[in-house]
Amino acid sequence: MPLSDFPRFPLTFGPSPVHPLDRLSDHLGGARIWAKREDVNSGLAFGGNKTRKLEYLVPDAIAQGADTLVSIGGYQSNHTRQVAAVAAKLGMKAVLVQENWVDWPDPLSDRVGNIQLSRIMGADVRLDPAGFGIGFKPSWEQALDDVRAAGGTPYAIPAGASDHRLGGLGFANWAYEVEQQERELGVFFDTIVVCSVTGSTHAGMIAGFAGQDRPRRVIGIDASAKIDETRDQVARIARRTAALLELDRELTDEEIVVVEGWAGDLYGVPVESTLEAIRLSGRLEGMIIDPVYEGKSMAGLVDLVTSGEISRDSTVLYAHLGGQLALNAYSGLFRG
Ligand SMILES: *Cc1c(COP(=O)(O)O)cnc(C)c1O
Repeated sequence: MPLSDFPRFPLTFGPSPVHPLDRLSDHLGGARIWAKREDVNSGLAFGGNKTRKLEYLVPDAIAQGADTLVSIGGYQSNHTRQVAAVAAKLGMKAVLVQENWVDWPDPLSDRVGNIQLSRIMGADVRLDPAGFGIGFKPSWEQALDDVRAAGGTPYAIPAGASDHRLGGLGFANWAYEVEQQERELGVFFDTIVVCSVTGSTHAGMIAGFAGQDRPRRVIGIDASAKIDETRDQVARIARRTAALLELDRELTDEEIVVVEGWAGDLYGVPVESTLEAIRLSGRLEGMIIDPVYEGKSMAGLVDLVTSGEISRDSTVLYAHLGGQLALNAYSGLFRG
């Protein structure tokens, strides 16, 4: 059925802002670059891309009579912080399994930034030493069982709200929102650049744009350092979302573009290009990006524009998906 027939629980301020990055564009000397800002999309604990996805999961949780949202992520997960905020807003509880996804020694990583906010908002935060992985985990099953054993009704939200039937709808909606904003602004973004890890942000965009008349490139920049898994995940969720929206054709492999080269060797560990991209965006635009996700996708954008892979006459939309709070757990960076 069409997207407008799916129930949506508003958690955002409305359409997220779109604005040009003129100094960055001039500096790169190529395509014109704009940003669409999911980092300021909501009043719920700084928002971000997961807040948008949750707009389509919440009606399902309410319909199932859930009283507790259960989810999983790394210690500095932006996603679980957004789940905690949404639970608070709905008057539900949140149980969050926080795993040690990142091999980055910072003594405060389980205390500051995202995890501190989740605790402030009353979530039951459970630290788990398990490593990075976007699949289903025993600790998570345990959390669900605990809620049931205590007489509650859990609603399971997988990592990044991605591997969920409705996970792609939030960013399919983003694609329609972009089309509307283009009409108002009198521009057309022929290329979208987006960070991809658990996949439903990029996948939702692909499914949403596929239903529109004018084709464009949606380039996902892998930040998981597991390119095959990211590609599979994006392809699967894009096709599932397109089917859910009853798109009248199959998505082609050419529409699913996830590129590698900026993740470094490990999820959550910045490399030199990440740090350069963070400085560049901060110094030229006052736009803050993080070392786990957007620093890597911005590094990709910079290189793709500089190399001409994204051509000079392109108009590019950079999806800023949020995530700045994690900077608190990287206190060793940018000291000199
Ligand atoms: C989760 C997240 C991403 C990646 O989005 P996926 O839907 O997991 O691919 C990118 N940037 C930020 C800030 C995020 O929190």
